[in-house]
Amino acid sequence: MKKEFEFIDYLRNQISDKPADLIAGIGDDAAIFTTPKNYQNLISTDLLIEDIHFKLEYTPANLLGYKALAVNLSDIAAMGGEAKYFLLSIARPKTLSDEFLIDLLSGMFELAKKYKVSLIGGDTSGSVNKLFLNLTILGESLVNQAVMRSGAKPGDEIYISGKLGGAALGLELLQKGKRLTDKSLTEIEKSALLAQLKAEPRLDLASQLVKNQLITAMIDISDGLSSDLGHICKESRVGAIIDSALLPLFDSARMDQALNGGEDYELLFTVPAEKASQIKELRVLFPNLTITKIGVITSDLTKWLIAQNGQTPLESRGYDHFG
Ligand code: ADP
Ligand code: MG
Repeated sequence: MKKEFEFIDYLRNQISDKPADLIAGIGDDAAIFTTPKNYQNLISTDLLIEDIHFKLEYTPANLLGYKALAVNLSDIAAMGGEAKYFLLSIARPKTLSDEFLIDLLSGMFELAKKYKVSLIGGDTSGSVNKLFLNLTILGESLVNQAVMRSGAKPGDEIYISGKLGGAALGLELLQKGKRLTDKSLTEIEKSALLAQLKAEPRLDLASQLVKNQLITAMIDISDGLSSDLGHICKESRVGAIIDSALLPLFDSARMDQALNGGEDYELLFTVPAEKASQIKELRVLFPNLTITKIGVITSDLTKWLIAQNGQTPLESRGYDHFG
C-alpha cells in the first residue's frame, strides 16, 4: 500500500455488505444515505493522536483500531442511539508499516461487524512523524428519544455499568513496563491492560435503557467519573451524592483511579426512583455486566462523596487535555 489509492481500494475491499439506507459509500466526493422517517441523526467525532492518546510501543495495532471505533460507538451509546456509519481519517507517518495498518483496520472492522456499522468515507494523508486517527460516527435515534446530559432530576438514582478504574490501572501498568505479551502477567494485570487497550461500547445496554424509557440523563465515562458526573450535574443543573462504598471498583484498582481515571467507557445514567425496580429486571439480560447504583441526584448544585471519614465535595479531577 505504497500509494494512497491502494490504501483506499484496500479499505473498500474490506466492506462486504451495504446497508439498505446507504446509497453511496466510499468512492465519491461524499457519501449519501437516507434517514428513515421518524428518526433523527446523531453525529460525533473523536481524535486519537500518537503519544497523546496512545503509544505505539505498547499498543497492539488491532486493539488500537478496535478502540478507535469503540470510543466513537460509546458516544452513540451514551446518547441511547443506534450506530450506523463511520468515517475514518488517517494521517500515516512513512515509518508505519503496511502490516500495522492492516492489523489496525482488522481490529476496527471486527468491531464494526459486531455492531453493524459501515465505513462510508474518510480522508487519507501522510504525516511528518506521528500517526493521527480521526473517526466520525453517525447514528440514529427515534425523534426526541436521544438521551441527553441535561435530563437528570433531584431524587433520580445514579447508576454505572461495569467496573471503574480498570483503564487507569492498565495505563499505570503499561507505564511501569508491563506488556500484553508478557508471559508473567497475572490474570488481573492482563484484564487491566485490556481495559486500557480495548474498550467495549455499551450499545446493547443503552438500547434497552432507552427502549424501556428508564433513564433521564446519560454520559459515557471517558474523562473519569468525577468529571463526567460533573457534566451531567452542570447540564441538568443539579447536584449529586455518590457513596464510595457502592462504587464497583475494578479488581486491584484504587479509589482515585475509579473516580478520576477515565477511559473506562462505561455508561453513567440517572433513573427516576419509581423505575428502579425495572433496572433489577434489566440485569437479567446482562449477566456479564454489572449495573450498580452508586448514588442519588440532589437539588443543591454540589457533588458530594460519602466516605468513611464523612461527606466531602467531589471535585472534577478527570483527564483534561489542556490541563
Ligand atoms: P477527495 O479528494 O474528494 O477528498 P479522496 O481521494 O480523499 O477524495 O477520497 C476518495 C474516496 O475515498 C472518498 O469517497 C473518501 O471518502 C474515501 N476515503 C479516503 N480516505 C479514506 C479513509 N481513510 N477511510 C475511508 N474512506 C476514505
Ligand atoms: Mg480527501
